Amino acid sequence: MIPFLDLKAQYSAIKPEIDAAVARVVSSGHFVLGPEVAVFEERFAEYCRAAHCRAVNSGTSALHLALLAAGIGPGDEVITVSMTFVATTAAILYSGARPVFVDVDPLTWTMHPGSIEAAITPRTKAILPVHLHGLMADMDPIMEIASRHGLVVIEDAAQAHGAEYRGRRAGSIGDVGCFSFYPGKNLGAFGEGGAIVTNRPELARRVSMLRDWGQETKYNHVIPGYNYRMDEIQSAILNVKLDYIERWTEARRSLADKYNALLSDLPFARPQPPRYARHVYHVYAVRSPRRHEALTLLRDAGIAGGIHYPVPVHLQTAYAELGYRAGDLPVTEMLANDFLSLPIYPELLPEQAVEVVSTLRNAAARRPNGVVSDRAEDPQNVMTWSHNRRAS
Ligand SMILES: *Cc1c(COP(=O)(O)O)cnc(C)c1O
Repeated sequence: MIPFLDLKAQYSAIKPEIDAAVARVVSSGHFVLGPEVAVFEERFAEYCRAAHCRAVNSGTSALHLALLAAGIGPGDEVITVSMTFVATTAAILYSGARPVFVDVDPLTWTMHPGSIEAAITPRTKAILPVHLHGLMADMDPIMEIASRHGLVVIEDAAQAHGAEYRGRRAGSIGDVGCFSFYPGKNLGAFGEGGAIVTNRPELARRVSMLRDWGQETKYNHVIPGYNYRMDEIQSAILNVKLDYIERWTEARRSLADKYNALLSDLPFARPQPPRYARHVYHVYAVRSPRRHEALTLLRDAGIAGGIHYPVPVHLQTAYAELGYRAGDLPVTEMLANDFLSLPIYPELLPEQAVEVVSTLRNAAARRPNGVVSDRAEDPQNVMTWSHNRRAS
């Protein structure tokens, strides 16, 4: 049995520290936006090499407040990608703005800078790239286009804690960066959590108010706000985990190297991080036109695989009103059809990566005889039997 990720293994490795941190909060009697949150914000800003951090109750809330703090609302358009988790799009809609999708680059799988300008209209206010699977989007051209057109840049860094672009950390390049601490993320709470980081003090100040009912001081509500506050317990846990994130990230990176080497003679297109990148492998995805067959073989061997993501946002029923059709974003749709994610988490043993790849190798070996035939693609089916609940 190789699960898609193993949160219990991580907990047992640091149990005494986590238990002590939780007990400290419980006996302090301080549960929401207290000293643990303040310490976490200070440390996470430093980790991201950004000036300010504000913790909130989810990655979705972080995106929503980043948009509101940047002044985005009804009548505005936000350029983003469809190859992402739905939360990116949902947050844009929460703000009242309209998401405008551009295609991704076929090699990096992130926003294609060359497709941005054609999507800019007089209503465009922001560009929202997503650092998919832990690889940062190509930020230099994105920032250049944004500054030429006077647009805000909001980074969706929910999958990219500690990822780097030419030595700069995810979240610190755009006007504001948004993170999620959902349990399965590279830095995960024991429940929901999120944060924004920014170098612009006025954006941080607005997020501080928006997450706590628009209060400037107690009972002085200067703007309409939300209850998007972070818990002390989650911050205390994140404060413990922040000491390990670099070690865990290096473990992910070395497992990815291992997968890359082991898969080199098999018919899977592997991730190709550009030279600018420190990829943090929240997801290790490969591409295969026969991914359903590969997933079935993994499952039969007790190995959980996944697909991130099988249906791009612009083709989801929930967002049909946006008016997109199959064929509108060819690269995005091609990736949705052949992406296949292999188990990756810091506690995964190198031997287990070998086992995953030998299972795939056996499948490849059976192919030439035509013994194994691929079944019709059925993302629903694939998702039910993959053992992971939600990797991201
Ligand atoms: C997880 C995720 C989010 C949302 O974060 P939550 O904490 O689950 O609200 C947003 N964008 C991307 C790319 C994600 O992977």
